[in-house]
Amino acid sequence: MDVTIVEVSPRDGLQNEPVVLPTEAKVELIGRLVAAGARRVEAVSFAHPKLVPAMADAEAVMERVPRPDGVSYAGLVLNRRGLDRALGSGVDEVNVVVCVSETFNRRNQNASTSESMQAAAEVIGRARGEGLFTTLTLATSFGCPFEGEVDPGRVVELAARGAAAGAHELCLADTIGAGVPSQVRDLVARVRDAVGAEPPLRFHFHNTRNTGFANAVTAVELGARVLDASAGGIGGCPFAPRATGNIATDDLVFLLERMGLDTGYDLEALLPTAAFLSERLGHEVPALLPRAGTFP
Ligand code: ZN
Repeated sequence: MDVTIVEVSPRDGLQNEPVVLPTEAKVELIGRLVAAGARRVEAVSFAHPKLVPAMADAEAVMERVPRPDGVSYAGLVLNRRGLDRALGSGVDEVNVVVCVSETFNRRNQNASTSESMQAAAEVIGRARGEGLFTTLTLATSFGCPFEGEVDPGRVVELAARGAAAGAHELCLADTIGAGVPSQVRDLVARVRDAVGAEPPLRFHFHNTRNTGFANAVTAVELGARVLDASAGGIGGCPFAPRATGNIATDDLVFLLERMGLDTGYDLEALLPTAAFLSERLGHEVPALLPRAGTFP
């Protein structure tokens, strides 16, 4: 596989949709994605159910997902309690999130960035000890809805702490879809300079302002081999109520495959997922490929 797509529609997508899907529909979505070739799926979040009610059934979802060889399921974890739940649920990976922006982290996790990073380092160490793959995601790496520009020096500092804590992967996330390709270039250079070639970088782009695909291509051209995307481009941005969600898996697979890069997805198998999601969510999904069809 040239580029691995981490399918985040079951987590980032669904958690930001106004309609909360029942467990059965989430499991069907995940089954469809796996059947279409998804090999890494961020299936659930272990954030407190009061904060993220749409993910309250994380354990029930994990009990029912298909378990073919080669498919790895991740759960999002914000703290020690979240890790306890993750360890009991059977996920293969944990995605531990720290927000680079102090204000955003305070609002999201009710702690300073430094406190959250301290907890994240512990969580990563414990999860590794239990044999799980660990990702540190640095949210708001490209901009913050409260503070505006985010100091790239802070991103680098936290990335270095994540690497020192033993994270298998560092994910730079454009949580609000404000990033542009020049920022991707700048951040990759800075992080590589400070941290070295390992751990590998993963990117999480939202298409809020239509820059997500340009950012994704830039990241790939700089050597990134793991990108997050959401089937149908579902989801949104809690700070821009009418905005669209993550970059769409459908459109990203088309783009990368036509560039000659293997993603492991079968587009013909993936495309009907958009209609399934549109029906269950009650609105047309933002992805463009399901409307246009594949190139002959
Ligand atoms: Zn996101």
